[in-house]
Amino acid sequence: MSDIKRVYTFGNGQAEGRAEMKNLLGGKGANLAEMNLVGIPVPPGFTITTEVCTEYTQKGKDAVVELLKPEVEKAITHIEKLMNCGFGDKQNPLLVSVRSGARVSMPGMMDTVLNLGLNDEAVEGIAKKSGNERFAWDSYRRFVQMYGDVVLGMKPKSKEDIDPFEEIMEEMKEKKGVHLDTELSVDDLKELVKKFKAAVHKQTGKDFPTSPWEQLWGAVCAVFDSWMNDRAITYRRMYQIPEEWGTAVNVQAMVYGNMGMTSATGVAFTRDAATGEDIFNGEYLINAQGEDVVAGIRTPQQITLEGSRRWATLQGITEANRAANYPSLEEAMPECAKELFATEQKLEDYFKDMQDIEFTIQDGKLWLLQTRNGKRTGAAMVRIAMEMLRQGIIDEKEVLKRMEASKLDELLHPVFDRTALKSVKIMAKGLPASPGAATGKVVFFADDAVVYKEKRQRTILVRIETSPEDLAGMDAAQGILTARGGMTSHAAVVARGMGKCCVSGAGEIKVDYKARTLEMKGKVYKEGDWISINGSTGEVYDGQVPTQDVELDGDFGAIMDICEKYTRMDVRTNADTPNDAVVARKFGAKGIGLCRTEHMFFEGDRIKAMREMILAPDTEGRKTALKKLLPMQRGDFEGIFTAMDGYGVTIRLLDPPLHEFVPHQVETQRALAEEMGMTLEEVVAACRSLEEFNPMLGHRGCRLGNTYPEITEMQARAIIEAALNVKAKGIDVHPEIMVPLIGTVAELKYQANIIHNTAKTVFKERGTEVKYLLGTMIEVPRAAVVADKIAEIADFFSFGTNDLTQMTFGYSRDDAGKFLKVYQEIGILKNDPFEVLDQEGVGQLVKMACEKGRSVKKSLKLGICGEHGGEPSSVQFCNSVDMNYVSCSPFRVPIARVAAAQASALSSVTATE
Ligand code: PEP
Ligand code: MG
Repeated sequence: MSDIKRVYTFGNGQAEGRAEMKNLLGGKGANLAEMNLVGIPVPPGFTITTEVCTEYTQKGKDAVVELLKPEVEKAITHIEKLMNCGFGDKQNPLLVSVRSGARVSMPGMMDTVLNLGLNDEAVEGIAKKSGNERFAWDSYRRFVQMYGDVVLGMKPKSKEDIDPFEEIMEEMKEKKGVHLDTELSVDDLKELVKKFKAAVHKQTGKDFPTSPWEQLWGAVCAVFDSWMNDRAITYRRMYQIPEEWGTAVNVQAMVYGNMGMTSATGVAFTRDAATGEDIFNGEYLINAQGEDVVAGIRTPQQITLEGSRRWATLQGITEANRAANYPSLEEAMPECAKELFATEQKLEDYFKDMQDIEFTIQDGKLWLLQTRNGKRTGAAMVRIAMEMLRQGIIDEKEVLKRMEASKLDELLHPVFDRTALKSVKIMAKGLPASPGAATGKVVFFADDAVVYKEKRQRTILVRIETSPEDLAGMDAAQGILTARGGMTSHAAVVARGMGKCCVSGAGEIKVDYKARTLEMKGKVYKEGDWISINGSTGEVYDGQVPTQDVELDGDFGAIMDICEKYTRMDVRTNADTPNDAVVARKFGAKGIGLCRTEHMFFEGDRIKAMREMILAPDTEGRKTALKKLLPMQRGDFEGIFTAMDGYGVTIRLLDPPLHEFVPHQVETQRALAEEMGMTLEEVVAACRSLEEFNPMLGHRGCRLGNTYPEITEMQARAIIEAALNVKAKGIDVHPEIMVPLIGTVAELKYQANIIHNTAKTVFKERGTEVKYLLGTMIEVPRAAVVADKIAEIADFFSFGTNDLTQMTFGYSRDDAGKFLKVYQEIGILKNDPFEVLDQEGVGQLVKMACEKGRSVKKSLKLGICGEHGGEPSSVQFCNSVDMNYVSCSPFRVPIARVAAAQASALSSVTATE
């Protein structure tokens, strides 16, 4: 015998476990123990530890049952003593429930088995003891049904079949002409049990076990087996729960909610899980067992009178009808309700969080079966945390700890109306590229979206993929749907920047630009037909689905104030327009970490000048075109500098391959030829010459500025002149000029020379100066390797982790969608590395570059401007490598602020406590 303790008992105000022992006892077991210790009425029982689950996988069933036997037998005796009955006793039998319970709740992983211990003799004993034959037989048929399903594998044969027990039950109800199971007689129930057992024999070839001990070991082993079933494995993979955590098993004395009209069962929340409102709420059913409340067979009633009246109003039920047929627990069982109110308060005070509880009332006595921190919406998360802070229940650090980034995101974007969502038809699924909800008419071309907008019509821009040319259309549309592209595709990045809903990479949709049709699941949508997209789930819905805006109320602002107090890193924003800059500043951005200047070249007349510059045959021609662009750029920068008064603004020089700026459609090429005095053939040839096999690794980034120095010269001049202009107006301006995509020091040096010389010239012309910084992006792996040399001439590094991920993995940003999904499904990758920074690989390059850079220049400013700058785990990583700031799209600024504050506040908690 080993001296490992495998079983922990609880009951009658005593417990061997505690709430802190969640790792060993699972969430449910630990809280059951704790509830006992705080004096909450909990049926006695015991928990088999999560470690036994691991032993079970290693040593097998028989060995583990042998190891467990002595402790489990002792624990059953413990329950027998407290309940004054015997497990297997014919006259006075003890019945138990068996439930799984991992460290974190894994809903749906395994069902519960209730009423275990019943057989043909025990059922008579229960009937006599309770004086309620119906209750005894109702419990028996439930047990055979649940045990058959959970332990003996009595599942429907195919997904079209209904549950084998439900089928028998339905037949019986029909035969008897009743609708509810409560209307079945004792004889009906007896016949049901017989039929259920016969079905078990037929399907499994074995008799239903009659020995309570055999039943118990069967159920315990089924819980352990369920840890390794497909459902559980998939769930663990989705939520990154390690296999070695295992599940605990909780065995508890049964209490009965189906003992008659003085018994009931229910579930409740100590606060509203949808809104966060501090009102106790929940549902119950008289004369029922737990599964009836969730199964939807009978209409559950509300616990509080106030809740019941609200419910009736929503359902259109009159007060008289409500009071007669759906009374609240407060009305139906006032004493029990009073005790339940006191208990829920006690539990919330004790656990200091909103609780989700399960209870049973047996013949007028209240028992608690479970308590756990309740799941909640983003709005409820914020409201509950702030109200608990004001009520003195938790402190500011705890508020921060409770902010889940993905839930905060819900608060920043429109959402679909909850009731409307219940009846939507899902037509396709893509990547949830930019959260929110959008409904609109299908359009296929950017200019159409603009035209519809002018007519005040809502649209969804549907594209195979988007390019910078579509910018105006993306802006005009309510949402964007693309067939290709991943989380960092153009559509995804731009949409997030705009705070616009986007579903990208929906591979199953068919877009036909010529016919102007979209086909999904065989249905063909023409331009002007309605669809809706859910950027938070990636789903595409048929037709128009109502949406609602979410208000950012005072509590949200208060959370942001707390972030401000605890954060070490600043949060900047990626913004290309004064408008984006203003939005981001409202969310609390302290500066711009990335202004992609190329986006400025697409608006209005600019694209013409830009094309003229690109198609110019020589330097002179380019210079003439650049002269036209200069005042436009200068004006843009003035706007952005003004919006960011007092903060740094990092402006990146031209980065994308030039072919992105030239037209690809013949009509536009013809118009351009006319405008430029060229032949169509010449324009077509010039556009063709810009085509590259691998444009992301081609003529882009600093390679443009180094081969066409006049572009860098124009941009540097626009930045410096704009800075001087706004400075003259009293704006506190901090320009930071950033060179993209360098791989060698010489590349940066060449650009730095042009920039410094241009600045010098402008200062001389103006007779005044402005301080500026010159830095570079680190997005080519080689740059990370030689970061110490680069730091000698750079004032700052900004990690472009989109390209750095692309080049480190060798995965094309625009094509990886095709295999990344599969890679995650089969476990080759845990996450999409374009979404969550790969700390093991790309992160190490970042860390090395930070250390090397700072080793030669202590004051080197470090930041990140890839999409990872708004992703919480990546933000935490940036904090750990001592970055000065993270930068992300305006609508992700609040999330990044929370993540940054959590990183500094909570890491210092662990360091000092
Ligand atoms: C990056 O590569 O991470 C980056 C910010 O630049 P872009 O996405 O514009 O290539
Ligand atoms: Mg880049």
